[in-house]
Amino acid sequence: MKRILITGAAGFLGSHLCDRFISEGYFVIGMDNLITGRKENIEHLFKLENFEFYHHDVTKFIHVPGNLDYILHFASPASPIDYLKIPIQTLKVSSLGTHNCLGLAKAKNARILVASTSEIYGDPLVHPQNEEYWGNVNPIGPRGVYDEAKRFQEALTMAYHTYHNVETRIIRIFNTYGPRMRLNDGRALPAFIGQALRGEDLTVFGDGSQTRSFCFVDDLVEGIYRLLMSDYAYPVNIGNPEEISILDFAKEIIELTNSKQKIVFKELPTDDPKQRQPDISLAKRLFDWEPKVGRKEGLKKTYSYFVNLSSEELYKSDHNSFDGFILK
Ligand code: UDP
Repeated sequence: MKRILITGAAGFLGSHLCDRFISEGYFVIGMDNLITGRKENIEHLFKLENFEFYHHDVTKFIHVPGNLDYILHFASPASPIDYLKIPIQTLKVSSLGTHNCLGLAKAKNARILVASTSEIYGDPLVHPQNEEYWGNVNPIGPRGVYDEAKRFQEALTMAYHTYHNVETRIIRIFNTYGPRMRLNDGRALPAFIGQALRGEDLTVFGDGSQTRSFCFVDDLVEGIYRLLMSDYAYPVNIGNPEEISILDFAKEIIELTNSKQKIVFKELPTDDPKQRQPDISLAKRLFDWEPKVGRKEGLKKTYSYFVNLSSEELYKSDHNSFDGFILK
Protein backbone atom coordinates (compact mmCIF):
# COMPACT_ATOMS: atom_id res chain seq x y z
CA MET A 1 0.00 0.00 0.00
CA LYS A 2 1.45 3.39 -1.00
CA ARG A 3 1.83 5.89 1.83
CA ILE A 4 1.12 9.60 1.53
CA LEU A 5 1.49 12.45 4.03
CA ILE A 6 -0.99 15.30 3.62
CA THR A 7 -0.30 18.45 5.63
CA GLY A 8 -3.23 20.73 6.30
CA ALA A 9 -5.35 17.60 6.24
CA ALA A 10 -8.23 19.12 8.23
CA GLY A 11 -8.53 22.13 5.95
CA PHE A 12 -10.86 22.67 3.02
CA LEU A 13 -8.50 21.32 0.34
CA GLY A 14 -6.52 18.96 2.58
CA SER A 15 -9.64 17.09 3.68
CA HIS A 16 -10.82 16.58 0.09
CA LEU A 17 -7.34 15.30 -0.79
CA CYS A 18 -7.49 12.83 2.12
CA ASP A 19 -10.80 11.52 0.74
CA ARG A 20 -9.38 11.19 -2.76
CA PHE A 21 -6.25 9.29 -1.76
CA ILE A 22 -8.19 7.03 0.60
CA SER A 23 -10.50 6.18 -2.30
CA GLU A 24 -7.44 5.47 -4.48
CA GLY A 25 -6.37 2.86 -1.89
CA TYR A 26 -3.52 4.76 -0.22
CA PHE A 27 -2.47 4.77 3.42
CA VAL A 28 -3.05 8.41 4.30
CA ILE A 29 -1.31 10.25 7.13
CA GLY A 30 -3.12 13.51 7.75
CA MET A 31 -1.30 16.26 9.66
CA ASP A 32 -2.77 19.49 10.97
CA ASN A 33 -2.32 21.82 13.93
CA LEU A 34 -6.03 22.68 13.72
CA ILE A 35 -5.47 26.45 13.85
CA THR A 36 -7.59 27.03 10.75
CA GLY A 37 -8.46 23.40 9.95
CA ARG A 38 -11.57 21.73 11.36
CA LYS A 39 -11.52 18.26 12.85
CA GLU A 40 -15.09 17.79 11.55
CA ASN A 41 -13.73 17.77 7.98
CA ILE A 42 -11.90 14.48 8.52
CA GLU A 43 -13.70 12.86 11.45
CA HIS A 44 -15.35 10.40 9.08
CA LEU A 45 -11.88 9.00 8.29
CA PHE A 46 -10.79 8.33 11.88
CA LYS A 47 -12.37 4.88 11.93
CA LEU A 48 -10.50 3.73 8.84
CA GLU A 49 -7.49 1.47 9.13
CA ASN A 50 -5.65 3.23 6.33
CA PHE A 51 -5.92 6.70 7.89
CA GLU A 52 -3.89 8.22 10.70
CA PHE A 53 -4.12 11.72 12.09
CA TYR A 54 -1.14 13.60 13.55
CA HIS A 55 -1.97 16.75 15.47
CA HIS A 56 1.24 18.57 14.66
CA ASP A 57 2.55 21.97 13.60
CA VAL A 58 4.66 21.52 10.45
CA THR A 59 6.87 24.47 11.34
CA LYS A 60 8.34 22.15 14.01
CA PHE A 61 10.46 19.14 13.06
CA ILE A 62 8.25 16.53 11.39
CA HIS A 63 8.72 12.94 12.44
CA VAL A 64 6.85 10.29 10.47
CA PRO A 65 7.81 6.67 11.16
CA GLY A 66 8.04 4.27 8.21
CA ASN A 67 8.36 4.96 4.54
CA LEU A 68 6.57 7.63 2.53
CA ASP A 69 5.91 7.64 -1.21
CA TYR A 70 4.32 11.06 -1.49
CA ILE A 71 3.93 14.28 0.46
CA LEU A 72 1.30 16.93 -0.26
CA HIS A 73 2.08 20.17 1.56
CA PHE A 74 -1.27 21.93 1.95
CA ALA A 75 -0.91 23.39 5.41
CA SER A 76 -1.39 27.17 5.35
CA PRO A 77 -3.98 29.73 6.22
CA ALA A 78 -5.42 30.71 2.86
CA SER A 79 -7.94 33.43 3.44
CA PRO A 80 -7.50 37.16 3.93
CA ILE A 81 -9.07 37.17 7.39
CA ASP A 82 -6.55 34.57 8.55
CA TYR A 83 -3.55 36.54 7.28
CA LEU A 84 -4.74 39.46 9.37
CA LYS A 85 -5.21 37.36 12.49
CA ILE A 86 -2.12 35.16 12.21
CA PRO A 87 0.43 36.82 9.91
CA ILE A 88 3.53 35.26 11.51
CA GLN A 89 2.17 31.71 11.35
CA THR A 90 1.20 32.37 7.73
CA LEU A 91 4.79 33.32 6.95
CA LYS A 92 6.23 30.40 8.90
CA VAL A 93 4.12 27.59 7.50
CA SER A 94 5.16 28.16 3.88
CA SER A 95 8.81 28.89 4.74
CA LEU A 96 9.88 26.85 7.80
CA GLY A 97 7.03 24.38 7.25
CA THR A 98 7.95 23.87 3.61
CA HIS A 99 11.60 23.44 4.60
CA ASN A 100 10.62 20.66 7.00
CA CYS A 101 8.42 18.99 4.37
CA LEU A 102 11.19 19.15 1.77
CA GLY A 103 13.69 17.76 4.27
CA LEU A 104 11.30 14.93 5.03
CA ALA A 105 10.81 14.25 1.30
CA LYS A 106 14.59 14.07 0.87
CA ALA A 107 15.03 11.77 3.87
CA LYS A 108 12.23 9.43 2.75
CA ASN A 109 12.96 9.65 -0.94
CA ALA A 110 9.36 10.74 -1.42
CA ARG A 111 7.86 12.86 -4.21
CA ILE A 112 6.49 16.12 -2.85
CA LEU A 113 3.85 18.45 -4.24
CA VAL A 114 3.58 21.89 -2.66
CA ALA A 115 0.49 24.08 -2.81
CA SER A 116 1.33 27.45 -4.29
CA THR A 117 -1.20 30.03 -5.36
CA SER A 118 -2.32 32.54 -7.94
CA GLU A 119 -1.44 35.09 -5.24
CA ILE A 120 2.18 34.81 -6.34
CA TYR A 121 1.03 36.82 -9.40
CA GLY A 122 -0.18 39.55 -7.01
CA ASP A 123 -2.32 42.21 -8.70
CA PRO A 124 -1.44 40.93 -12.17
CA LEU A 125 -0.45 43.19 -15.05
CA VAL A 126 -0.77 40.29 -17.50
CA HIS A 127 -4.14 38.72 -18.28
CA PRO A 128 -4.87 35.83 -18.19
CA GLN A 129 -1.93 34.72 -16.04
CA ASN A 130 0.34 32.04 -17.42
CA GLU A 131 3.17 30.33 -15.56
CA GLU A 132 5.81 32.52 -17.17
CA TYR A 133 4.49 35.70 -15.58
CA TRP A 134 6.56 36.79 -12.54
CA GLY A 135 3.86 38.73 -10.78
CA ASN A 136 3.18 42.10 -9.24
CA VAL A 137 3.27 41.65 -5.48
CA ASN A 138 3.45 44.22 -2.70
CA PRO A 139 5.77 42.53 -0.17
CA ILE A 140 4.75 44.72 2.77
CA GLY A 141 1.01 44.94 2.09
CA PRO A 142 -1.51 42.91 4.11
CA ARG A 143 -1.39 40.04 1.62
CA GLY A 144 2.43 40.10 1.59
CA VAL A 145 2.69 37.60 4.45
CA TYR A 146 0.95 35.00 2.29
CA ASP A 147 2.18 35.98 -1.15
CA GLU A 148 5.85 36.29 -0.23
CA ALA A 149 5.84 33.10 1.84
CA LYS A 150 4.40 31.25 -1.15
CA ARG A 151 6.97 32.82 -3.48
CA PHE A 152 9.74 31.77 -1.08
CA GLN A 153 8.18 28.30 -0.97
CA GLU A 154 8.46 27.99 -4.74
CA ALA A 155 12.12 29.09 -4.64
CA LEU A 156 12.93 26.62 -1.85
CA THR A 157 11.13 23.81 -3.65
CA MET A 158 13.04 24.45 -6.88
CA ALA A 159 16.30 24.54 -4.89
CA TYR A 160 15.58 21.11 -3.39
CA HIS A 161 14.79 19.89 -6.87
CA THR A 162 17.97 21.29 -8.39
CA TYR A 163 20.48 20.71 -5.60
CA HIS A 164 19.10 17.64 -3.84
CA ASN A 165 17.34 15.97 -6.77
CA VAL A 166 14.12 15.73 -4.78
CA GLU A 167 11.11 14.96 -6.99
CA THR A 168 9.07 18.12 -6.60
CA ARG A 169 5.80 19.40 -8.03
CA ILE A 170 4.35 22.91 -7.66
CA ILE A 171 0.70 23.72 -8.19
CA ARG A 172 -0.51 27.31 -8.46
CA ILE A 173 -4.07 27.17 -7.19
CA PHE A 174 -6.59 29.77 -8.32
CA ASN A 175 -9.79 30.58 -6.39
CA THR A 176 -11.46 27.31 -5.47
CA TYR A 177 -14.78 26.68 -3.76
CA GLY A 178 -16.86 23.81 -2.48
CA PRO A 179 -18.16 22.04 0.61
CA ARG A 180 -16.08 22.45 3.82
CA MET A 181 -14.97 26.01 3.21
CA ARG A 182 -15.10 27.84 6.53
CA LEU A 183 -18.24 29.91 6.74
CA ASN A 184 -16.49 32.76 8.48
CA ASP A 185 -13.12 32.81 6.78
CA GLY A 186 -13.81 36.09 4.99
CA ARG A 187 -13.78 34.66 1.48
CA ALA A 188 -16.36 35.89 -0.96
CA LEU A 189 -18.30 32.66 -1.44
CA PRO A 190 -18.83 31.60 2.19
CA ALA A 191 -19.33 35.25 3.15
CA PHE A 192 -22.12 35.69 0.58
CA ILE A 193 -23.79 32.34 1.28
CA GLY A 194 -23.57 32.90 5.06
CA GLN A 195 -25.08 36.36 4.71
CA ALA A 196 -27.90 35.05 2.53
CA LEU A 197 -28.67 32.23 5.00
CA ARG A 198 -28.70 34.64 7.96
CA GLY A 199 -30.91 37.06 6.09
CA GLU A 200 -28.24 39.77 5.94
CA ASP A 201 -27.32 41.97 3.02
CA LEU A 202 -24.43 40.77 0.87
CA THR A 203 -21.28 42.85 1.25
CA VAL A 204 -19.53 43.55 -2.03
CA PHE A 205 -16.18 45.25 -1.64
CA GLY A 206 -15.43 48.18 -3.93
CA ASP A 207 -17.81 48.50 -6.86
CA GLY A 208 -17.63 44.74 -7.45
CA SER A 209 -16.00 45.12 -10.86
CA GLN A 210 -12.93 43.13 -9.75
CA THR A 211 -12.98 39.65 -11.26
CA ARG A 212 -12.17 36.14 -10.09
CA SER A 213 -12.41 32.72 -11.74
CA PHE A 214 -13.84 30.05 -9.47
CA CYS A 215 -12.95 26.37 -9.68
CA PHE A 216 -15.01 23.61 -8.05
CA VAL A 217 -12.99 21.59 -5.55
CA ASP A 218 -13.44 18.21 -7.31
CA ASP A 219 -11.85 19.61 -10.47
CA LEU A 220 -8.95 20.99 -8.46
CA VAL A 221 -8.37 17.66 -6.71
CA GLU A 222 -8.26 15.91 -10.09
CA GLY A 223 -5.69 18.46 -11.29
CA ILE A 224 -3.56 17.89 -8.18
CA TYR A 225 -3.72 14.14 -8.67
CA ARG A 226 -2.64 14.39 -12.31
CA LEU A 227 0.16 16.84 -11.58
CA LEU A 228 1.49 14.63 -8.78
CA MET A 229 1.59 11.66 -11.14
CA SER A 230 3.20 13.67 -13.95
CA ASP A 231 6.93 14.15 -14.36
CA TYR A 232 6.84 17.95 -14.52
CA ALA A 233 8.78 19.82 -11.81
CA TYR A 234 7.91 23.42 -12.68
CA PRO A 235 4.84 25.36 -11.53
CA VAL A 236 1.48 24.54 -13.12
CA ASN A 237 -1.70 26.67 -12.88
CA ILE A 238 -4.86 24.83 -11.92
CA GLY A 239 -8.12 26.75 -11.92
CA ASN A 240 -11.28 27.37 -13.85
CA PRO A 241 -10.82 30.09 -16.49
CA GLU A 242 -14.49 31.10 -16.42
CA GLU A 243 -14.18 34.65 -15.12
CA ILE A 244 -16.88 36.67 -13.35
CA SER A 245 -17.07 40.04 -11.61
CA ILE A 246 -17.65 39.89 -7.86
CA LEU A 247 -20.85 41.91 -8.26
CA ASP A 248 -22.28 39.36 -10.71
CA PHE A 249 -21.07 36.59 -8.44
CA ALA A 250 -23.01 38.11 -5.52
CA LYS A 251 -26.09 38.26 -7.76
CA GLU A 252 -25.66 34.58 -8.61
CA ILE A 253 -25.58 33.75 -4.90
CA ILE A 254 -28.78 35.72 -4.30
CA GLU A 255 -30.44 33.74 -7.07
CA LEU A 256 -29.00 30.44 -5.84
CA THR A 257 -30.20 30.97 -2.28
CA ASN A 258 -33.48 32.42 -3.43
CA SER A 259 -32.98 35.24 -0.96
CA LYS A 260 -34.47 38.71 -0.84
CA GLN A 261 -31.31 40.37 0.38
CA LYS A 262 -29.79 43.50 -1.11
CA ILE A 263 -26.22 44.05 -2.11
CA VAL A 264 -24.38 46.67 -0.05
CA PHE A 265 -21.03 48.11 -1.06
CA LYS A 266 -18.06 48.39 1.28
CA GLU A 267 -14.59 49.84 0.85
CA LEU A 268 -12.26 47.80 -1.38
CA PRO A 269 -9.54 46.10 0.66
CA THR A 270 -5.94 47.24 0.18
CA ASP A 271 -4.15 45.43 -2.67
CA ASP A 272 -7.28 43.51 -3.71
CA PRO A 273 -6.36 42.13 -7.15
CA LYS A 274 -8.46 43.75 -9.89
CA GLN A 275 -8.64 40.71 -12.11
CA ARG A 276 -7.65 37.09 -12.07
CA GLN A 277 -7.99 34.32 -14.61
CA PRO A 278 -5.78 31.28 -15.03
CA ASP A 279 -4.22 30.35 -18.34
CA ILE A 280 -4.51 26.56 -18.05
CA SER A 281 -3.03 25.57 -21.40
CA LEU A 282 0.04 24.06 -19.71
CA ALA A 283 -2.04 21.68 -17.56
CA LYS A 284 -4.07 20.76 -20.65
CA ARG A 285 -0.94 20.02 -22.63
CA LEU A 286 0.93 18.17 -19.88
CA PHE A 287 -1.79 15.92 -18.49
CA ASP A 288 -4.95 16.70 -20.38
CA TRP A 289 -6.63 18.45 -17.47
CA GLU A 290 -9.45 20.94 -17.66
CA PRO A 291 -12.34 21.68 -15.30
CA LYS A 292 -15.55 19.74 -15.83
CA VAL A 293 -17.90 21.30 -13.29
CA GLY A 294 -19.59 24.55 -14.29
CA ARG A 295 -20.38 27.24 -11.71
CA LYS A 296 -24.09 26.49 -11.66
CA GLU A 297 -23.58 22.85 -10.75
CA GLY A 298 -20.68 23.55 -8.37
CA LEU A 299 -22.54 26.28 -6.53
CA LYS A 300 -25.56 24.01 -6.05
CA LYS A 301 -23.38 21.31 -4.46
CA THR A 302 -21.69 23.90 -2.29
CA TYR A 303 -24.97 25.44 -1.17
CA SER A 304 -26.37 22.09 -0.11
CA TYR A 305 -23.39 21.75 2.25
CA PHE A 306 -23.86 25.19 3.81
CA VAL A 307 -27.61 24.93 4.12
CA ASN A 308 -27.17 21.81 6.27
CA LEU A 309 -24.83 23.44 8.79
CA SER A 310 -26.18 23.89 12.30
CA SER A 311 -27.54 27.29 13.23
CA GLU A 312 -24.85 27.43 15.93
CA GLU A 313 -22.28 27.24 13.13
CA LEU A 314 -24.17 29.77 11.05
CA TYR A 315 -24.33 32.32 13.86
CA LYS A 316 -20.83 31.87 15.32
CA SER A 317 -19.95 35.16 16.95
CA ASP A 318 -17.04 36.03 14.68
CA HIS A 319 -19.09 35.61 11.52
CA ASN A 320 -18.84 38.39 9.04
CA SER A 321 -16.36 40.32 11.19
CA PHE A 322 -14.18 40.90 8.18
CA ASP A 323 -14.28 44.27 6.53
CA GLY A 324 -11.27 43.65 4.34
CA PHE A 325 -7.80 45.03 4.66
CA ILE A 326 -8.31 48.73 4.80
CA LEU A 327 -4.98 50.39 5.52
CA LYS A 328 -5.63 53.93 6.72
N1 UDP B 1 -15.25 40.12 -1.39
C1 UDP B 1 -16.41 40.85 -1.30
N2 UDP B 1 -17.20 40.69 -0.19
C2 UDP B 1 -16.90 39.84 0.84
C3 UDP B 1 -15.73 39.06 0.73
C4 UDP B 1 -14.92 39.23 -0.40
O1 UDP B 1 -16.73 41.64 -2.20
O2 UDP B 1 -17.69 39.78 1.82
C5 UDP B 1 -14.41 40.29 -2.58
C6 UDP B 1 -12.92 40.51 -2.29
O3 UDP B 1 -12.65 41.86 -2.03
C7 UDP B 1 -12.30 40.02 -3.58
C8 UDP B 1 -13.25 38.91 -4.05
O4 UDP B 1 -14.46 39.09 -3.34
O5 UDP B 1 -12.29 41.03 -4.56
C9 UDP B 1 -12.73 37.50 -3.79
O6 UDP B 1 -12.34 37.43 -2.47
P1 UDP B 1 -11.76 36.11 -1.80
O7 UDP B 1 -11.29 36.50 -0.43
O8 UDP B 1 -12.76 35.05 -1.92
O9 UDP B 1 -10.53 35.70 -2.73
P2 UDP B 1 -9.17 36.47 -3.14
O10 UDP B 1 -9.36 37.97 -3.04
O11 UDP B 1 -8.12 35.96 -2.21
O12 UDP B 1 -9.01 36.04 -4.52
